[in-house]
Amino acid sequence: MKTHVKALVVGGGAVGTSIAYHLAKAGWEDVVLVERDELTSGSTWHSAGLLPYFNMSYATTHIHDYSIRFYKTLKEETGLDPGFFVVGNLRMAQTRERMDEYMLYASTAETCDVPYEWMTPAEIAERWPLVRTEDLAGAIYHPTDGYINPADVTQAMAKGARARGVTIERKWQVDGYAWTGAHWDVTLTKMVEKGGNLIPSDERVTVHAEHVVTATGNHSQRTAKLLGIKIPAIPVEHQYIITEPDPALVEYRKTMPEHPVLRDADAKWYVREERGGWMLGPYEYGAPARFEYAVPDSFRADLFPLDLERIEEEYMSMIHRIPSSETAGLKDDYNGPICYTPDGNPLLGPAPGLRNMWLAEGFSFGITAAGGAGKYLADLMVEGEAEIDMGSLDPRRYGAWMTTEYAARKNEEAYAHVYILHHPDEEREACRPLRTAPAYDRQKAAGAQFGQVNGWERPNYYGPVDAPDTFDHDARSFRRGAWWPYAEAEARAVREAAGLIDATAFTKHSVTGPGATAFLDRFTCNRLPRIGRINLTYALSVAGTVRTEYTIVRLGETDYYLISAGGLTAYDGDYLRKAAEDFMADGGDFVVIHDVTTQWGVFALAGPNSRSILNELVRDSEPETALSNKRFPWLSARDIELGMVPVRAIRVAYTGELGWELHHPIEMQTHLWDRLTEAGARHGLKLAGARAQNWLRQEKSYRAYGTELGRDATPLEAGLDRFVDLSKEFHGKAAMEETGIRFRCATFLVDGPDDADPWGREALYDGETRVGRLTSGGWSVAFGKSIGMGYVTPEKAAPGTRLMVKMHDRLWPATVTEDSPYDPKNEAIRKDG
Ligand SMILES: Cc1cc2nc3c(=O)[nH]c(=O)nc-3n(C[C@H](O)[C@H](O)[C@H](O)COP(=O)(O)OP(=O)(O)OC[C@H]3O[C@@H](n4cnc5c(N)ncnc54)[C@H](O)[C@@H]3O)c2cc1C
Repeated sequence: MKTHVKALVVGGGAVGTSIAYHLAKAGWEDVVLVERDELTSGSTWHSAGLLPYFNMSYATTHIHDYSIRFYKTLKEETGLDPGFFVVGNLRMAQTRERMDEYMLYASTAETCDVPYEWMTPAEIAERWPLVRTEDLAGAIYHPTDGYINPADVTQAMAKGARARGVTIERKWQVDGYAWTGAHWDVTLTKMVEKGGNLIPSDERVTVHAEHVVTATGNHSQRTAKLLGIKIPAIPVEHQYIITEPDPALVEYRKTMPEHPVLRDADAKWYVREERGGWMLGPYEYGAPARFEYAVPDSFRADLFPLDLERIEEEYMSMIHRIPSSETAGLKDDYNGPICYTPDGNPLLGPAPGLRNMWLAEGFSFGITAAGGAGKYLADLMVEGEAEIDMGSLDPRRYGAWMTTEYAARKNEEAYAHVYILHHPDEEREACRPLRTAPAYDRQKAAGAQFGQVNGWERPNYYGPVDAPDTFDHDARSFRRGAWWPYAEAEARAVREAAGLIDATAFTKHSVTGPGATAFLDRFTCNRLPRIGRINLTYALSVAGTVRTEYTIVRLGETDYYLISAGGLTAYDGDYLRKAAEDFMADGGDFVVIHDVTTQWGVFALAGPNSRSILNELVRDSEPETALSNKRFPWLSARDIELGMVPVRAIRVAYTGELGWELHHPIEMQTHLWDRLTEAGARHGLKLAGARAQNWLRQEKSYRAYGTELGRDATPLEAGLDRFVDLSKEFHGKAAMEETGIRFRCATFLVDGPDDADPWGREALYDGETRVGRLTSGGWSVAFGKSIGMGYVTPEKAAPGTRLMVKMHDRLWPATVTEDSPYDPKNEAIRKDG
């Protein structure tokens, strides 16, 4: 066993093995992989090995795409056949709505160069006559994916890794981690066989590792405990069954090639051929979470007993879809732990609060994802960034508020939701409400339909006051949902009178101390504001791309209040704190950082009447001028009093109207809400939600973090030049300049279908050539048509350029506008009074 290594990878499943392989491929020497048992003895050995492309996320689609292409190269590289059967993948739809889902997915697939074809029921019947098609609406077919042997692909990656210098040590269990300030001291115990069990021996070793990656699968709760952090990866039971040979299938296969992997999404299953029979994998309701605290010592490469009753409905629906399967008896069954996370995405990236500790946990499609996860995590570790934005997979997307109970129940939900209709306006129900601000009950009584942002309840829109509990569920659509008229009325009210939007979920940090100014000046790319003023600015990644967007309020010489995206509290806080530690370690003065997110509520009041509303409430020696441009100019911050509430008011509005953000002590929130709504009633105030706000900000070309802004584009590519002070030095500047302009952010007005707006995932075309993709979409009340924002090649970003956007499998005209098509001179926002 090497005792001094560059990287120690813990866990020899598909994921850990791929990471070790890719670290070596990226040039790292002294990579060691340790496995407590045998390679693949975790979930990997019993995986069905399907490699589905289908995924609604841009980052994950890239990861799956890499895996599928990479696995095809392994045989040539290593001489080991990973057993990749490229039989294709037929995803069937029983309804038009399911076809709508596939069309939305197809947009994402196109932007990632994933090949697909459409098939009609008649075409399916002609090609695969064993499949019943009369109740199908159609299907999407991927000709280039299929299934693989999970153990063989892992062994092939292991062989490739060894050939590139990786050492693989089996029967060594990691039992402790200690950070010395420069490296990790990792304690390992030799595991030995005794009576069929795997038990620790007295043999121990300590490995000094510069970096550690944990890929411990079902053992992630033990890993979390050893590291003293939270990891919301908990497995759920997943079963598949294999039938005896089906005579009709055996006969068919005498002359015909193998069936593609079949998926009947509306019936919640996948089916593929297995030795003349069928393998059925259902994603049934009611599958329980397991190993919420730890995997028992007695559980090795084991399985749970089959629960046939739980999957009866899916079994019957397989017989419906493939009638000949009824004749085949049950031959084999597998019920194993499959790791999940609350949103179904793996946790891939830096561990919260720790240095040089990387997590690769919570993989539910781990065979499909292993290749790409290994590649992109290795990029992150070796280069500092990956070419795709890994933010949606980052382990820090959950905060310290997260508990075992929450993770377990959400993970069960994520499993049960694998085959639901993935509406872009979907909101999941489990574990809610959990994080509520004081005004929650008032908002609910006013008809609010909430979305969940990192656990927070935030109104998406205000529907009917007496709506049934199922209203929002039934309102969802791939086109315009039943919520659309409510959001439209809210957006109109903001433009014409006033709207009140709850923005309490914003992340808020206080940065103070003698080093605060020098630190923030280096950490962010814009000039710091003067005292009493605010600035929009960006902290960059080492690649010069946008890591975090901040509104910085300067309260004093060395006293700053930083506001960043709602829900990204741990993600932003971790980056901020580590950057400050680095600054101080480099000799910088002391910096103190506090996360004050839950201390401050935030209401955004915007619209031409917003000043009149506040004028009724403001207490001041000269109330009539307190909110005037002279005393309270645009882009400034003041402590004001509204009734009895001390408010840190900031004159900005994400909707692009005259408006203020009202940051207030959270315990006074209901009082402030009541005063604002009472006064607002006299000025046409309407309660508004996040959906209306999202449309309005696009009319102003305001980029949003997580859509236009992320770790795959620099602020210059995002068109934010005016917020980048090139005259100063800042973190990521050289990399940003070196990157140049690969593509540009633009705003589009879209002449789309009568019943749908873009969602922000659609491909953009110039003639036959794909030239970009939308990252946001919606409806513009100001222009009376659909709107979107996105990225295109630089030469297509000029205002007036006419492109086409692919929506619902058709191309629709999309014209590039000037930045800020609504009120380009900012007259509304600067209005005096
Ligand atoms: C029935 C079933 C069917 C599935 N079908 C598919 C499918 O068709 N397609 C697909 O993509 N996915 C499928 N999956 C999911 C897939 O199996 C997993 O996502 C994948 O195997 C996860 O790989 P991993 O490397 O993250 O974890 P694992 O394979 O569980 O590996 C983790 C390893 O870490 C080791 N380890 C843990 N703690 C320590 C420690 N302290 N020290 C040393 N070693 C340690 C364990 O022994 C284990 O070998 C299926 C899962 C199930 C249950």
